[in-house]
Amino acid sequence: MLLRLRRALPAPQLEAILGLASELGYRTSFLDSGSEFLRLEGSGRPDHRSLFEDLVGVAAVLESDNARERHERAPGQPDTQVRVHGGRFGGKELSLVAGPCAVETWPRLLEIATAVRARGATLLRGGAYKPRSSPYSFQGLGEEGLEMLARVRAETGLGIVTEVLDPRDVEKVGEVADMYQIGARSMTNGPLLTEVGRTRKPVLLKRSFGATVREFLLAAEFVLAQGNTQVVLCERGIRGFDKITRNLLDVGAIAYLKKATHLPVVADPSHAAGRADLVRALARAGIAAGADGLILEVHTDVSEVHSDGAQAITPDAFEEIARDTAALAALDGRRLVHFELSKALAS
Ligand code: PEP
Ligand code: MN
Repeated sequence: MLLRLRRALPAPQLEAILGLASELGYRTSFLDSGSEFLRLEGSGRPDHRSLFEDLVGVAAVLESDNARERHERAPGQPDTQVRVHGGRFGGKELSLVAGPCAVETWPRLLEIATAVRARGATLLRGGAYKPRSSPYSFQGLGEEGLEMLARVRAETGLGIVTEVLDPRDVEKVGEVADMYQIGARSMTNGPLLTEVGRTRKPVLLKRSFGATVREFLLAAEFVLAQGNTQVVLCERGIRGFDKITRNLLDVGAIAYLKKATHLPVVADPSHAAGRADLVRALARAGIAAGADGLILEVHTDVSEVHSDGAQAITPDAFEEIARDTAALAALDGRRLVHFELSKALAS
């Protein structure tokens, strides 16, 4: 590990740093005469980096190769592939998650699920518990929504991606979900991350609209630290200053994450765009930047959506995105995993 220390460090702060290093079994040496850069040699552990970052005398951890955190890609380390029911994310395989923002009614859910299954989705999304910015907005159907998700899973064969908002609901939601969704508003909820980390079920972790990439990765680390290695990172846009889109899809972060971590990354162009007419372009940008899949909000009657209506796309618009994704994936020797897309393409 390489630390940059604060300048003119008071002796007690330097002693605290050297003391911790020796306690953890590192040999230390300064790289410069100004005692600013401190090299720590020895065999580290994933939790050591944060211990040094917390010390008041440490300005930055510049390298952490010998104390690599669990999300970090070691040199030459291949992608982790996360398998979720029929979906696969990472390595050379991409998958599409599609469905309504929220579970609304049974006929509607079945209609949307059938439509996206026929057009290339391997997993169905849909919230029974909705994290809304306003307490007066539709909050989801709760347990009734979970029951509908269980039923649609049985009837269509699609795997289910659905949000868990409360650590006390992890078990109940896990009876239905093939993959837990942790929403942008919950990314910093340590107890919730820890609770899903205790399970061995895949987790789709969305980046908060106000989080740096480092904060996003540390949120993933909460799950990984509990032994759950099945984490898929989701870039869904961060808050910008311009209102032309709801959020700014951070394609630079997607490209960076694919290098810096071994975890799969998916893009959510729906919440980034906030408007249906831009979803396709952002979907293409996300895949071109290296994403291992997409999560998209699709509805069969875009005039009747209960939440996030402006960004809902039609099943036909979804099919165009599925075709784009298959074509873009093929450009870099990757492949879109599909459920019934092959049938749709053949017809
Ligand atoms: C959602 O997926 O419907 C959602 C609420 O997304 P986010 O947490 O990214 O805002
Ligand atoms: Mn939504």
